[in-house]
Amino acid sequence: MYLDRIRSGRYAEETRGAEAFIVPVGSLEAHGPHCPLGTDCMIPERLCADLEARLGDRVVVAPPIHYGYTPSLAAFPGTVSIAAETLISLYAEVGLGLAKWGAKRVVFMNGHGGNIAMLSVACDRIGAAGTVAAAISYWLHYSRDILGVCGTQGHAGEDETSLVLALDESLVEMGAARRHMRKGFLSPLAGPGTLESRFPEALNGDPGAASADKGRRLYELILERNVQAIERIIAGDYADDL
Ligand SMILES: [Zn+2]
Repeated sequence: MYLDRIRSGRYAEETRGAEAFIVPVGSLEAHGPHCPLGTDCMIPERLCADLEARLGDRVVVAPPIHYGYTPSLAAFPGTVSIAAETLISLYAEVGLGLAKWGAKRVVFMNGHGGNIAMLSVACDRIGAAGTVAAAISYWLHYSRDILGVCGTQGHAGEDETSLVLALDESLVEMGAARRHMRKGFLSPLAGPGTLESRFPEALNGDPGAASADKGRRLYELILERNVQAIERIIAGDYADDL
């Protein structure tokens, strides 16, 4: 079920069986010279659409939040970065707004690393108001699975480029892909000289090793893991054994 397609007069009835509300969250930012600016929202949006297809009216997919926090890529054409304070408020207010109308669980389906700190604060606020709140950042939580398909992970690197190829090959200009096999050894890491070594040409990793076939395999395993994650959240099964 999609939140923006529900009529207000039927809200209570339509959402009666909804066990989780899912909000796709992304960023509008440079993804190397070869991937589209909207990469980080496209992937979560498709994942949410397929979750909806799998779980039906047990989940409600809310409209996406396309913009994110990306000062580190602000120098590259097309990037639009939103202030951290604005995003904390935005994420929290969306979650609290959903909670006001009965959402018991709010899950942000995140596609961008820069958003995680703000999502963390927002989830604390939503949680404190009595609604379970979480964010899924697929490339972190499912890293082990992803590295079973790809040799490396990176921003606009092998894994992310493969996913975009799987979603829509026409959006990727593989001839423009570059290889930069360096990443920050600590995070957070900011200040003079740090960015140029982490994200030259707005990417890190090896996008040349990407393929649509790898992307389809990645996508299927990420979707499967997302279904499991949502089912666990619904069941109140929040912790793994150490
Ligand atoms: Zn990305």
